[in-house]
Amino acid sequence: MASKKQFERLVIAAYRLPFKFTKTKKGYKAIQNSGGLVSAILALSENFKKGESLEDDNKIVWAGTADDMPQDFNVEKFENENFEIAPVVISPELNELFYGGFSNDLIWPLFHYFPSYCVYNEEYYKAFIEANELFCDELVKIIKPGDFIWIHDYQLMLVPEMLRKRVPDATIGFFLHIPFPSFEIFRLLPRKWRESIIHGLLGADIVGFHTHDYTQNFIKSVKRTTGFECHQNIIYTPNKLVKADAFPIGIDYQKFHDACTNKLVKSEKQKIKKNLAHFKLIFSVDRLDYSKGLLLKLQGFENFLEKYPEWHSKVVFNMVIVPSRDNIEKYKSMKNEIESTVGRINGKYSTFAWQPIIYQYKSLSFNALIALYDISDVGLITPLRDGMNLVAKEYVACQVVNKGVLILSEMAGAATELNEAIIINPVDKSEMSDAIKMALEMGDEEKQIRLKRMQKRVATYNVFTWAFDFFNQTYETKIQQNLMRVKFINKTISEEIKTKYDQSSHRIFFIDYDGTLVGFQKYPELATIDKNTLQIITQLADNPKNRVVIISGRDKNFLEKQFRHADVTLVAEHGYFLKLPNEDWISTVITDENWKESVLPILEEYVNRCNGTFIEEKTGSVAWHYRNADSDFAQLRLHELRDDLSEIIRHKTDFEILEGHKVLEIKSGKYDKGQAALSLMENETYDFVLGAGDDKTDEFLFKALPETAFTIRIGLSPTMAKYNISDIPLFLNLIDSFE
Ligand code: UDP
Repeated sequence: MASKKQFERLVIAAYRLPFKFTKTKKGYKAIQNSGGLVSAILALSENFKKGESLEDDNKIVWAGTADDMPQDFNVEKFENENFEIAPVVISPELNELFYGGFSNDLIWPLFHYFPSYCVYNEEYYKAFIEANELFCDELVKIIKPGDFIWIHDYQLMLVPEMLRKRVPDATIGFFLHIPFPSFEIFRLLPRKWRESIIHGLLGADIVGFHTHDYTQNFIKSVKRTTGFECHQNIIYTPNKLVKADAFPIGIDYQKFHDACTNKLVKSEKQKIKKNLAHFKLIFSVDRLDYSKGLLLKLQGFENFLEKYPEWHSKVVFNMVIVPSRDNIEKYKSMKNEIESTVGRINGKYSTFAWQPIIYQYKSLSFNALIALYDISDVGLITPLRDGMNLVAKEYVACQVVNKGVLILSEMAGAATELNEAIIINPVDKSEMSDAIKMALEMGDEEKQIRLKRMQKRVATYNVFTWAFDFFNQTYETKIQQNLMRVKFINKTISEEIKTKYDQSSHRIFFIDYDGTLVGFQKYPELATIDKNTLQIITQLADNPKNRVVIISGRDKNFLEKQFRHADVTLVAEHGYFLKLPNEDWISTVITDENWKESVLPILEEYVNRCNGTFIEEKTGSVAWHYRNADSDFAQLRLHELRDDLSEIIRHKTDFEILEGHKVLEIKSGKYDKGQAALSLMENETYDFVLGAGDDKTDEFLFKALPETAFTIRIGLSPTMAKYNISDIPLFLNLIDSFE
């Protein structure tokens, strides 16, 4: 847990600064807005200062744009007890393309599952890069060592990587406030754009989402876009691990709960009651946006009136729509359609004494909003897609005097936490109308039970716990990265290895082939050794003090072809075959030749059941490769295949399954790279031993080699090896430096 001082300062980057700038007689005044994010950040800072996690006199720095900031506003003179501001100046032309275009006409509709609303425009993409660079420039200017930089939302998805390149050691967190869609939707972005977004986000140390589903969608997109290994929400990029996790944003529960009994809210409630005292009240509050499913909500309510006439003249629906982007044609026409639908429904059902829908297109004051929440019997929150939906949580918090029922769309992120609400599918009119009836008729006891549970959850995981959790997880991730870094071959460690090398006179090297000397290709036969690498190996092997062993799972013919002119020992098929320099191959294992007959048909079945997989048959083993298949689907099939094979293995004690990099291999006979290495070291005393490999089959080697050996795993995976090295070129550099 984060209890000690961890960071010097908080630096927030979000599209907008949380201030309104107004003109006064003396000059200009900046009024801090009181939204949830601002309160959370303030609380985080206060708490950490108390706990000595942040320097006392450091203010929070907030980088963002402000379109109402006067041109002559003097940032130096900006006075606020909590914040310093770092304005990012984006010209109106650039902003139109970046914010109006790429962010709101492409990412917003796509990530909310409205692909038909997307506008693809290369100019938008260029503007997105340019604006993200402006943010990055500003951050580079202001950040100092020890800062915690927290970047927010879809407008700034490229900033983490840009910043990482310029300040490699920075602590960077990113939080996405909208959904992250499934890969099938995400892939609708042009390849270059989607790659830049994934790499952009992976520049952070931690990437946060509202729900587990969004996190999994992101991880799947990472796998499909980059091929990086991922285990349990940790993504192993070539130079660091990145955590992706769910942090459902909360609200300032107490503020909403307590407000219900304050005087001003009471007087707002009186105003509502004056006209609507005899009706049951349903409410909804949404921004004007197609993701909110506003027309469908009206249709659902109309269906209710149609199906349940006994409720006529007894219920009123208060529909509040908060103005947003209504200068844009699409929003303007949506608004017109909503208003004409409200008019039509009211026209059809109203009487002199009753109007079923009260429609308001405006922002409400805080007190008016709380009054509406508390007084309403039903909250009808039915977005088609919503990252979280805070109105739902606020409504739950405000059930103080009057106890109501929440109807919530399953498409809102909040539905995963508020599962005692009546959960509905917003496109199903009939389900919505039945839910309204059920809510209106629900008994007090049931209402209480449902509310109590939801209130407890919303109160406990509030906006402060959300921010603390994110902060703590970032800190933990940083610790994990540092632990890994200790294992990384840095300059000091490589110097140490070289010194040991220079001091020794009888050395042996065990070097794996695929993933260690040569990168992965679509098919194994394409992964041939290049001239440079071969030269490094040849030089190493030509030194009379060195013995170089290429130790691989490959078949003997392939290996021999690659190293024909090098003075190396070859170990093929994980130790099944051995070839000393200038000698013939010998087989080290005696196995029953017929064992493959029982295994091959099973593997063939799995090739048919998992597109993109193929079989490689060797003398002592058969391998099922799944590098070209969908990785999640292949994982599923892999489990099944293991199960099927275990049936055979149960009856054969000399069978073994090896799992390598995107390959499952079955061999008969108890041999592995570790045993092969030990047998080659028998009767000899080496004063320098080095073993290098990249996958699970090399772990046998790392385990078998003596304690004094330098064992190195290429890539970031957890390992028994003493060290990790991030990639093949770095490993080649290391062995090339041996003279
Ligand atoms: N809200 C507001 N003014 C209003 C009505 C609502 O500021 O007139 C607030 C509301 O309290 C809530 C936020 O706007 O905190 C809406 O958040 P939500 O997640 O529900 O939807 P979003 O607009 O972010 O998609």
